[in-house]
Order: sequence, then C-alpha cells, then structure tokens
Amino acid sequence: MVIDFIADYYNNIEHYPVLSQVKPGYLRHLLPRSAPLAAEPIEEIIKDIETHIIPGITHWQHPAHFAYFPCTASTAGILGELLTAGLNVVGFSWVASPAATELEAIVMDWLGELLNLPKPFLFSGNGGGVIMGTTCEALLATLVAARDRKLAEIGEGEIGIGKLVVYCSDQTHCAFAKAAKIVGIKQGNVRVVPASKTTSFGLCPDELVRAVRSDRDRGLVPLFLCATVGTTPTAAVDPLLPLCRVAREHDIWVHVDAAYAGAACVCPEFRHVIDGVEGADSFSLNAHKWFLTTLDCCCLWVKDPSALRKSLSTNPEYLRNQASDEGGVIDYKDWQVTLSRRFRCLKLWMVLRSNGVANLRNFLRSHVRMAEAFEKLVAEDARFAVAGGIYMLRLAVGATLTEARHVAEAWKVVREQADAMDVEGIVGC
Ligand SMILES: *Cc1c(COP(=O)(O)O)cnc(C)c1O
Repeated sequence: MVIDFIADYYNNIEHYPVLSQVKPGYLRHLLPRSAPLAAEPIEEIIKDIETHIIPGITHWQHPAHFAYFPCTASTAGILGELLTAGLNVVGFSWVASPAATELEAIVMDWLGELLNLPKPFLFSGNGGGVIMGTTCEALLATLVAARDRKLAEIGEGEIGIGKLVVYCSDQTHCAFAKAAKIVGIKQGNVRVVPASKTTSFGLCPDELVRAVRSDRDRGLVPLFLCATVGTTPTAAVDPLLPLCRVAREHDIWVHVDAAYAGAACVCPEFRHVIDGVEGADSFSLNAHKWFLTTLDCCCLWVKDPSALRKSLSTNPEYLRNQASDEGGVIDYKDWQVTLSRRFRCLKLWMVLRSNGVANLRNFLRSHVRMAEAFEKLVAEDARFAVAGGIYMLRLAVGATLTEARHVAEAWKVVREQADAMDVEGIVGC
C-alpha cells in the first residue's frame, strides 16, 4: 500500500506546485494534540498523509525543481533504502554485521575507480572510503583528523590549537566554517581567501600563497584547505593542481568537497575537473545529490585512514570482539563521528547495479546537455548574461525526472517575469 502510494505520487507529481504553499504552523491545528492510545489502520494514516502532509511538501522530486541542488531519488535508490530499513542492522564494527562493512568497502572502491580517483584513495591502495550521512560530517571527521595529526607535531593544549589556521574561499559552503568552529579553530583563524570574480570564481593559488605566508610570518600554523569542485553559488571549480602544490609545500591537509558536481567525474569527459586530486588528502561527494541514491549518502575517501582512526576510535569493553582485537577488519565506527550507522552502501550498490555505469553516465550527460541548452537561451536574450553580475538567478538542472521541456518552461517563466519588470540592463544568470 505504501509502495502504491509512492508510485501514485510520482505519477502525479507534476500536478503539485513545486514550492509548498502552506503557512508556518499550518499542521498543528490539523492533527490531534497527542499521540493515539489505540492503534490506527494504515489506510487512515495514508489518508492523513494525502490530505495534511503532501500540501506541506516542497516537491524536490518534481521535474521543475531547480532550487538548491538536485537530490535525486530513483527506483533502485528507494528499494535499496527499503532493504536497509528492512534489515535494519547496525554495522558499527565488522562483527556487528560483516556484510555491511565488507560491501561498503567494495562499493567505495568501485565508485572510487569509476571516478578515476588515484589508487592511494582506495582500499586497494591502502587508503579507503566510508559512507557518512552528509558532507558536514565528512568535513568534521577530516578536520578533526588533520587537527590531531598536526597537534601531535606542534604540541597540544590551548596554545597549539590557537595557532591553527584553516583556509577556504569566499565561495566555500558554510559547512566548512561550522566544522572549523566545532573542532575549536579560533574564529579569527578561518582564512577566507577571495575567489577570482572576473572569470572562474575559483580560488586563486596566488592568493592562497599570500595568506599562508602572512600567517606563517605571524607564527601561526597552516592546517587545512577546503577546496571545492562545484561551489554552491555557481558550481565553480577550484584549481586542485596548483592549490595542492601550495598545500604540500606547507604541509596543509587538502580536502576536496565535490558534494554536488563530483558525480560528473564518472564520465571520462568531465573527469578533468578534479585533475590534481592526487595531491589531496581526502575527497567527498554526495551520492544523494546527483547520483540517484536517496538521501543520505556522502561518500568520503581518505589516503590515510589511520588519521581518522587515531582521532575517532573508541574501544569500550562492551564493543570489544575477537575480530577487532586481531586486526585486519574495518570497524567503521572508528572512521566517523557517530557510533551507530546505517547500511547505506546497499542502496548505492543497487544504484550501480540496477542502472549500470553506461546508463548512469548518460543520465549525467543528459542534465549537462539541458544546462547547456539553458545557457544558450540565456545568451540569446540581450537582457541577460552568463557572467558575474550584481543580480543573479541560479538554475540547477538535475532532478531525476527533468526533461528539456521543464527547462524551457523555466526560461519562459524567467522571461515573463523580466518582461513584467521591464528589465533593461544585463542580469547575471
Ligand atoms: C550540498 C553541499 C554541501 C553540504 O552538504 P550536506 O551533505 O548537506 O552537508 C557542502 N558543500 C557543497 C559543495 C555542497 O554542494
């Protein structure tokens, strides 16, 4: 019944307004004041979902959803999620569910190879991958690992941590500043390096050099660079090759945040956006964004898993077991912030197998083609330009069900609004 409900939802999805039309607090007066004492039939519950919940949904799976970034669901992803919930294992240690750990390691090597990540990021090259919930967790875990590794060199305590400086650009996602705050980096030591505003919106290596030198001159210790491939404002790409070169010179941990755009690298023709990644220490992407795997599924690869383990492992008596004591198994609890963890790799495995790499590549390519077509439409209207302007419209093409007609309709809406406003100048788009 629930599956039928979901199938009907997708069949009718275009009839809903993309953005929920409800007002804040709408739900409280529609539902009872407290939980029911007696069990209720599923039919009743689904009826309430139809009448009360659906109107309060912003339809991320609507083919005309172009906001934020896509969060692509798919049949394989949804069924994988169902299997995960059905089995409901808690694979924090290998022994707690060996298949959950072993499949995750295999799938992370599969996907790492598809992305053409350098061997040191894969288990087969003594690195390895782990699936977390979100990029925020990946940034937090890598930053903690880098911090502790550096503090082991320069001395712990307040003086040590007060000297650590982290770097990002003014286009970096706010998740990074949050992670820096949580790991105790002084607010004044989060260095926001300006990105180029005239061309690429990428982080300028020369600006990074300037910032690092000035920090070192003041006795501070460079720690971490968060480089982005596919920034949130404009999907800009930070140039990894020169940035990693600067970082290596100053012993800075480089994390590549490719949360959204990284998936494109499974297509050989787009792989160049992460050229230079061999110089980085860690790399992450959200398979739930543009890779048909339902939320949540952040894939993180690191060259040095022992750095994560040194910072994040715990070993209380009640979790000890022979396999862990003997070594040679992965205990993913030691790679991440949380202890309990979901069997997330199952859905990613389903997505890879049910689609096949060829179809996944074509799926990504179709979105790139649609975005290029949109770019052409914008360029043909003298009132708009694809450039760094003061006013900016942002359109993210990538929902699973999006077709060219939805993009064309979006452009029609933009033009109608522009006509109504009698816009004369050029608007960045
Ligand atoms: C979406 C996104 C994030 C935040 O991702 P979460 O998984 O929600 O933490 C961070 N960085 C980039 C580049 C993103 O696209």
